Amino acid sequence: MIRAYVALGSNLGDRLATLESALRALDALPGVTVAAVSSAYETEPWGGVEQPRYANAVAALDVEGDALSLLRACKAIERTLGREPGVRFGPRTIDLDVLLFGDRVVDSPELTVPHPRMLEREFVVTPLLEIAPHAVLPDGSPVTAERAIEGRITGVLGRLSAFRDAPRGAG
Ligand code: AMP
Repeated sequence: MIRAYVALGSNLGDRLATLESALRALDALPGVTVAAVSSAYETEPWGGVEQPRYANAVAALDVEGDALSLLRACKAIERTLGREPGVRFGPRTIDLDVLLFGDRVVDSPELTVPHPRMLEREFVVTPLLEIAPHAVLPDGSPVTAERAIEGRITGVLGRLSAFRDAPRGAG
């Protein structure tokens, strides 16, 4: 059993409902249990493109399996949830990133773990530290908010109702 952390983000449509749907879909994967979910945070769009604010959260998962399978399952969930109804190749409403997968290091064309830009993003680091205050990178160094200056958090949207009872302090 591996403890993994996945970042979720949505900036189109009913953002919180989308995050909850993604969490349910993750929890429904064979060999995957959602162990903890952070609060949902509202964050500034980043990357220079004019777009609505995001809702972001981080989930702790207990996973029986490997990191690449988890990534591919995340991509499948993005495809299922991430299109406006009726619009083929429509705007993506959900982004799922694998942040950490136990203490594994993966560096392949399809998957890089730890996620290479996670420490620069406040919308990743803050919810991760909320549910895993002692999170460490594979080299043993602690996850800290020092470098998290992109994707600033502008507000807290609250707990996601479907996972309100999931423990926050796991991991
Ligand atoms: P995105 O733009 O976030 O949907 O990601 C684009 C691509 O990044 C995906 O097709 C993945 O194959 C690749 N990728 C590499 N490492 C990761 C990771 N840790 N989590 C999510 N996607 C990743």
